[in-house]
Amino acid sequence: MPTEADFAKPRFITGGCLCGSLRYRIDFHDSHDFLGASGTCQCTQDRKATGSLWLQYHKVTPPSKFTFTSPTTSLKHYNASPGAARGFCGECGSFLCWKPVEDTGRVTISVGTVDSLYLFGEGADGKEVPEGGFGFALANGGGDHEWCGNEIKGVTEGLSILGHERGKRWDGDPE
Ligand SMILES: [Zn+2]
Repeated sequence: MPTEADFAKPRFITGGCLCGSLRYRIDFHDSHDFLGASGTCQCTQDRKATGSLWLQYHKVTPPSKFTFTSPTTSLKHYNASPGAARGFCGECGSFLCWKPVEDTGRVTISVGTVDSLYLFGEGADGKEVPEGGFGFALANGGGDHEWCGNEIKGVTEGLSILGHERGKRWDGDPE
């Protein structure tokens, strides 16, 4: 079992939308903080955008790098709030990422769009992916847990726990 003290860290991962039109790759710098970058959000915007009660996200900040490796013809943006663009596929609806409108190189990705190979090692034969993949590195919950004020009692409360307390809880947006 991976633990916060010992888990496999990827050098890079790939992911994409449900229909496959949008593909991306993330290259992680040696300094990338896999614990601090992994969080959840229960805001109403993320619920509506994902159709799920919480968003499991991972923050990619320079010098780590997010790059589209496919054409971005089907990439659409929706600004649910000023200053923030939500990137999704106009063909299949997958919500891929969230970023400041002003390009800072900072992108927050929906961890559910990461390829199964990297999430849990499916199809890992001969590839540089350990058994079990890098799901822990991406979704350990060591970072912020946002909008916990929107928790649904008995259902989504204590998302940061997953065995024990991890990360910081915020009633709203930590920023
Ligand atoms: Zn798509």
